[in-house]
Amino acid sequence: MIEKKVINLKSIQEIRKLNPSEQNEFFKNKSIKDLLLYFMEEDYLEEALKIPSKNIRIIQQDSIIKKYRIIEKNYIIEINIHKKVIKHNCLYWMHKCSKRYTLCKHLGKIFSIIFEEDSKNILKDLILNDWNFEVI
Ligand SMILES: [Zn+2]
Repeated sequence: MIEKKVINLKSIQEIRKLNPSEQNEFFKNKSIKDLLLYFMEEDYLEEALKIPSKNIRIIQQDSIIKKYRIIEKNYIIEINIHKKVIKHNCLYWMHKCSKRYTLCKHLGKIFSIIFEEDSKNILKDLILNDWNFEVI
């Protein structure tokens, strides 16, 4: 019997080194949370999930552009799937995320509330390809 290879990777760079079938195997059964943990610490993700969903307004949501506003804070989040660009404007994003290729809690929240398939596809793409993180 062939033992099934268990892939337990710690970094995005390691996933990118796998061949396509290994990547498929790796992504199989991964939850949104599993994928988000490549971009943020678990404690911070818990904090992200506490942002009330009612504070999020959808401005645009189609197969190319997903754009949201976090009311009260007046933050904008724009995900351009074709161009592989995320634009956002919180301080954490400006100072940390764009330099370290991590996500802030607002993005964590957005990926937790949009359609699961969309969310997973974007997160997989973020892992496999270099997206640009820009300040809006
Ligand atoms: Zn943010």
